[in-house]
Amino acid sequence: MNSAAGDGAGIQTLNWINGKWTGADGGATFAVRNPATREEIARVPDCGPAEARRALDAAAAAFPAWAALPALDRANILFNVYAQMLSQARELAMLLTVENGKPIKESLAEIQYAADFVRWSAEEARRVYGETIPASVVGKRHLVLKQPLGVVAAITPWNFPSAMITRKVAPALAAGCTVVIKPAEQTPLSALALAELFAAAKLPPGVLNVITGNPEPIAKEMLSHAKVRKIAFTGSTEVGKILMRGAADGLKRVALELGGHAPFIVFADADLDKAAEGCVTNKFRNSGQTCICANRVYVQQEAHDAFVKKLVERASALVVGDGLDEKTQIGPMIDEQGLKKVVEHLEDARKRGAKVLCGGRVKDERWYEPTVLTNVPPESRILHEETFGPVAPVVPFKTEDEVVRLANDTPYGLAAYFYTKDVSRLFRVAEALEYGIVGANDPSPGVPQAPFGGMKESGMGREGGKWGLEEYVEVKHVSIGI
Ligand code: ADP
Repeated sequence: MNSAAGDGAGIQTLNWINGKWTGADGGATFAVRNPATREEIARVPDCGPAEARRALDAAAAAFPAWAALPALDRANILFNVYAQMLSQARELAMLLTVENGKPIKESLAEIQYAADFVRWSAEEARRVYGETIPASVVGKRHLVLKQPLGVVAAITPWNFPSAMITRKVAPALAAGCTVVIKPAEQTPLSALALAELFAAAKLPPGVLNVITGNPEPIAKEMLSHAKVRKIAFTGSTEVGKILMRGAADGLKRVALELGGHAPFIVFADADLDKAAEGCVTNKFRNSGQTCICANRVYVQQEAHDAFVKKLVERASALVVGDGLDEKTQIGPMIDEQGLKKVVEHLEDARKRGAKVLCGGRVKDERWYEPTVLTNVPPESRILHEETFGPVAPVVPFKTEDEVVRLANDTPYGLAAYFYTKDVSRLFRVAEALEYGIVGANDPSPGVPQAPFGGMKESGMGREGGKWGLEEYVEVKHVSIGI
């Protein structure tokens, strides 16, 4: 981490703009806190519009030369960054855990996942193929070229501080775009650490820039800068809508990976042990602070009690603690606000008559215990709003039609899961679910080679695989008379 000496409270970091480590113009900084202790661990530059404009100008100036480089040269820089990420995985994971709170094992898995996007993009950089199309008249030829879009402005969230960056930056750089990233205020250190790896890999100045500060004024500059061709965002639906409105004036492309409300369906014919195991893996990852984690667990009536027993056994055995402890499986909530939302959703469900089978309590003002609820009335907030916490509300259902209707009855459409051994049902339900990602007997569908993204109010655009790279290219038809 590029840093100046601190005053004892933590480290003082700098932003990476135009190939230089710089602070905010007026020297302002803001604090980054460890969610497990709430102690200040670092201060980062509190930048605003002037610094944002400079970063965007630098990205615009760097674009022509970067776009003109052979794809192999761009790929080689990415391969170098991939190797550095793996060799420094432990340090990167520890930094991630101290700013985000997630258990160290999950942080290591995130660094691997984040690095895999860099490798995939490096491999794919050389396969951005154009096409030729047969003409309808003699003496003409039609070519289709794929060219980089231009400057990309990326805004990323705190729940996956490393992977949400590489998922955007790696394909953008591979395609020949240049990027300005604004990471979340809670987790800027992982972003700055990644910038350091790109700097060490000799990425030319201005190709990648990381700016930290107040999101609104920085986003405003991104939206109004003439050279920005795309806004790539992961975060809340509310902010996604603000950005889409803002992007309309300049007709900038938007890719929005927004909130979700994932159903997790267990049919009575499923392997209940696997389903319960999968539910725990899926629901409690990052303490439930994951946009694709289960928000509603639907269990077919005949299997309800048996499944709930298995789920409670596993959920109540999870180890709650500081993410730096190797044994920890449930880390702290990101901040007071995050914790408050979980408490409110629990109070609401309880007041309406829900039964708490395990958990349901705050621990040491920073953690929420893994919780399983039953008898949750349909109007409960937890069944409609994203709780972003380690709470699994279980709801019984009778038929396949009923559960598909319940599952789709939401404005969101990011991820859905179901467990069954019936192959015909597997196809029927996978096709009927209005979600961008479906895990059938699979609680962890995310891989770098597959498309990740939502339908409906969960967003638009896809990250990952060839789809992720295509988001960063412009298609040009060249019609030639010969
Ligand atoms: P969350 O509720 O998960 O923090 P947000 O959508 O608020 O989700 O945050 C995701 C990212 O969006 C963060 O980088 C944050 O700084 C940024 N952000 C928050 N508000 C705005 C805004 N009004 N305009 C642009 N970016 C924003």
